[in-house]
Amino acid sequence: MNKPKMAAEKSASRVLMLLSQLERLNEEPKVSDKDAIRQITGKVLHLIQTQEKTRKEVVSKGSGGMEVILSSLENTRDLQTNLNVLGILNELLTVGGGRRTGVFVSKGGTAILLQLLVSSSKDPPANEELMILIHSLLFKVGPKDKKFGVKARLNGALNVTVNLVKHNLHNYKLLLPCLQVLRVYSSNLVNAVSLGRSGALEIMFDIIGPFSKKSTTLLKVALDTLAALLKSGMNARRAVDRGYLPTLLTIYQDWHRNDTRHRHVVIRKSILGCIKNITNIKLGRKAFIDASGMRILYNASTECLPVRTLDPLVNTSSLIMRKCFPKNRLPLPTIKSVFLHPLPHVPAGGPVAQLYNQPPGVDDVVDESDENEATEVDTENDTENEEDETGHKTQNDDIETDINKLRPRQINMRPFDELRVYEHFCREFTENFEDNDFENPRSFIPLSSVNPELHHGPIIIPTTPTSLGPQNRCSPQGDVLLPNSDRSSVELDSISISKSPDGKSDCDLVYSLGRLVLDGSVNGGSVDGSQEDGGEQADLEVPDTAALLPLHDPDLYLEMVKSTRSVPAYTEVAYPDYFGHVALNLREPILERAYGVQRIKIFQDIERLIHPSDIIDKVVYDLDNQSCPVIDNGESLKFNSKFESGNLRKAMQVRKFEYDLILNSDINSNHYHQWFYFEVGNMRPGVRYRFNIINCEKSNSQFNYGMQVLMYSVQDAINGRPQWVRTGSDICYYKNHFSRSSIAAGGQKGKSYFTMTFTVTFQHKDDVCYFAYHYPYTYSMLKMHLQKLSALSTAQIYYRQEDLCETLGGNSCPLLTITAMPESSSNDHISQFRSRPVVFLSARVHPGETNSSWVMKGTLEFLMSCSPQAQSLRESYIFKVIPMLNPDGVINGNHRCSLSGEDLNRQWQNPNTELHPTIYHSKSLLQYLRATGRTPLVFCDYHGHSRKKNVFMYGCSIKETVWQTNVNASTVDLHEDLGYRTLPKLLSQMAPAFSLSSCSFVVERSKEATARVVVWREIGVQRSYTMESTLCGCDQGKYKGLQIGTNELEEMGAQFCLALLRLRRFTSPLELHNHNSHLLDMENDLIDTRSIPNITSNTTYVLDEDEPAFLEEVDYSAESNDENDPDPEGYLQDNHALPDPNSDSEISHQDSLN
Ligand SMILES: [Zn+2]
Repeated sequence: MNKPKMAAEKSASRVLMLLSQLERLNEEPKVSDKDAIRQITGKVLHLIQTQEKTRKEVVSKGSGGMEVILSSLENTRDLQTNLNVLGILNELLTVGGGRRTGVFVSKGGTAILLQLLVSSSKDPPANEELMILIHSLLFKVGPKDKKFGVKARLNGALNVTVNLVKHNLHNYKLLLPCLQVLRVYSSNLVNAVSLGRSGALEIMFDIIGPFSKKSTTLLKVALDTLAALLKSGMNARRAVDRGYLPTLLTIYQDWHRNDTRHRHVVIRKSILGCIKNITNIKLGRKAFIDASGMRILYNASTECLPVRTLDPLVNTSSLIMRKCFPKNRLPLPTIKSVFLHPLPHVPAGGPVAQLYNQPPGVDDVVDESDENEATEVDTENDTENEEDETGHKTQNDDIETDINKLRPRQINMRPFDELRVYEHFCREFTENFEDNDFENPRSFIPLSSVNPELHHGPIIIPTTPTSLGPQNRCSPQGDVLLPNSDRSSVELDSISISKSPDGKSDCDLVYSLGRLVLDGSVNGGSVDGSQEDGGEQADLEVPDTAALLPLHDPDLYLEMVKSTRSVPAYTEVAYPDYFGHVALNLREPILERAYGVQRIKIFQDIERLIHPSDIIDKVVYDLDNQSCPVIDNGESLKFNSKFESGNLRKAMQVRKFEYDLILNSDINSNHYHQWFYFEVGNMRPGVRYRFNIINCEKSNSQFNYGMQVLMYSVQDAINGRPQWVRTGSDICYYKNHFSRSSIAAGGQKGKSYFTMTFTVTFQHKDDVCYFAYHYPYTYSMLKMHLQKLSALSTAQIYYRQEDLCETLGGNSCPLLTITAMPESSSNDHISQFRSRPVVFLSARVHPGETNSSWVMKGTLEFLMSCSPQAQSLRESYIFKVIPMLNPDGVINGNHRCSLSGEDLNRQWQNPNTELHPTIYHSKSLLQYLRATGRTPLVFCDYHGHSRKKNVFMYGCSIKETVWQTNVNASTVDLHEDLGYRTLPKLLSQMAPAFSLSSCSFVVERSKEATARVVVWREIGVQRSYTMESTLCGCDQGKYKGLQIGTNELEEMGAQFCLALLRLRRFTSPLELHNHNSHLLDMENDLIDTRSIPNITSNTTYVLDEDEPAFLEEVDYSAESNDENDPDPEGYLQDNHALPDPNSDSEISHQDSLN
């Protein structure tokens, strides 16, 4: 048994002995040693070929074997020695994987090989075996050497290989390794350009031919080389000029027809790879269209669809077709908002000035993506090592690194005299309650007794004697205080429910499902809602939801609508807002994405181009052309969104059961399309209708990750199910062929729109259904809720509602003050009352984030409830609440902006009193509180997040920001209280939807003008937060796998209150003794957390994409102008590592577009 081992050892030592001989000879090379070296290398080669152990010996650590071998190669000019050494290397590198190759590269092997290649080719004809060996080795080494492309070019190796290929087209044995190396050279873009000039493209086309079962390996390598060469725009142009694109299409068809058993999918994929790269340039796309590429690839793909293994072909074809689909402008006269609102002044250089200074024809779309190609070679660098750098840099770009900007400070502080006017919003601090009758407090009005009264009798808005804001409230009559007299024509002093004129002849249910119209000025009919119009009055069955919806009252809602001022002067009311929404008790799971749904949708879109005669293209709703009535043949759906928060601009019937929909831009802007709310009627039950919202802007959406749209059926409501339900199948979100000009897109070239598509089957005939992006929550609804809430006030509750200011659109912005009444007017009680810390809450600065209003509703209901915890909470704090910071945006169906066309959550640094009144006065009120020593303990602005799941918070921490920037934190003298972590930590323990791991406390530059950062930095509120609620659902906790509903959102708002209650205990150690052990445990737990030194480990830096890539990503990221990037594949990956600018609702659109 010992014998083989001995033998092995013996041979191993022998190879090392030979190598050390070789080493000596290498050191003092003499002519006479040539034979010796040849002999030794021959022996080594033999040993290595026959003994696996010897290979390991040679490359084992510290053996120096590789150096000796390379040194021989470098020094000798002897052909046989070279062949021996190359043979040795080939044996060594064939097995052992990347490690041996890594050793080879690190010892400078690549350059030695390349030099040998070049020097051996100087006296042609070169030795064929030598060339084969060198190229086989280069092919092994190239992909492992990051600098391979550069080294090859600098050594002059490119042309050697090209010439070898050119002259050996039929010498398969030599051709294959040379092509393989050429393929590796070409992955460097500069090399690709140089090789193109040397005729490499033409050579490849000499090799590539029609279907043949011979030499498929060679063909595959030639195609891959060609594809790599075509990544250069210059080569792509050359290919188009020579008519190669039709050739490639013909070859593709040939393989598609003949490869019936799908044995050569890789070759077919490689042909598509070449087409894909040529069509990166405009000329290529044109050639593709001219060569009927669309029809060819479409037909081939359709035949491939049933075979799952052909998916790569279908996906690549779909990507090419989408890229080549001619870009269109949206079918609109202009992408500027339909509705304009004159501003008191238009700041020069602001978004509105820019919008209206745009030249005519700005919306026209030109394929602009080739502009910079002429400079391609100059701007190309060697890109092989750049990935490393860019990969890291991007992540920290947005983090604030200026320590001075991170330190809280007082800036822009107005003189106290100017702030004094805010005193009357804070009367609780000066009131002495002497007139209060604490002995006989006003009795509590039970909820159930309130509602019936409100249902029938006249609506009386309870007058809060304390509410005399700087601006006047709207009176119930709505006729006194509407500020702009020119609007008097839309004053609505009576309401009646009438149906739309087209319902006249019908007697069935559709009759009662006409539109809810606010009668009066528009219809000119009834004056006071009487039944004088006889048969035209709908006998509407209002679902009785009083018991389920204590804060809802249809009549009161209509009353509220009357005093709501919209830019389009809406006179209709949407049924869901009128009837109310009773939250479902059903679980609504996050939808699982159906396989291949995206490409099926894309193929249907492509069919429009291939079979244009199948397309109806009938406009069925058009806000831009309201005077031109839609011809109704009873076959089309009817659309409407002329009601509060509605924003459908145009609807086009594309096919019998398919509609393209266009959303209106935010007023005074030409973009921000995301939120939607519209009505659909005249549907057929049991039919699958496809809806496409075709002017979405964000690059990704939760609609790709299981989120469904919301639908409200009026029939269902009348039948006892008045509720918004998650609905729709085949939902997906992808880039489409509509585009806008670079000027309209703020300088970006060829900015494409995205399609959000969903399919719905309606249940009822003659129903009226509503669709929304998320659970609607209108401004009128807020006013109704506030009125009902104020009616809940008891003697124990101190409740005040004032108007903080009037908005640009003439609506009031409510400000609430909620706390507990003092127990008596004694000095002690009054002093306790006044010493309560302030909690400042706000919501809905972004109108499209309706979820934030539902969370706020939950908070307010809790604050007004009579539970002992609510009472305790009121006794602990004074709440200042602005439940809707952007009423105008909400009313007019905006997604992000106010009427000034700006994101109000980007105005906190320098709000303008005229253009951003709600922000200006909110900030001033905060400044007043600070100036009077009442800086809030907590500030929280409620938002909605469209890219992430769960509920989470953003806060501000100097330390966590500094740590993220890799600045040596120890050099900065930082003292920071960790109290900012307590509230999120409490929430993560209490609120099931809340996720601590999604929270971040990093201060970003792009957010320096948001409420959170400004209130932290300028007002000095340490616990200053943005609370983000998902629009989709949760992926952790009790609600894992479920879409979020209003119950969960309202619960979140209530849990926020409970967390504040615990925070109060936690922040007042003296009170600890009074509470139970459970609470103490929890607090100890919190203290533990606070003492962990490296607390940042919990923080996720939230710029990361939180959703995994999904299967169809390849389609999804298709860019029309990716030829500007040297490496489209890398680009796609990079793109996902980059922060999606839209992923955070706080990020301004400007950021997202630039
Ligand atoms: Zn937001």
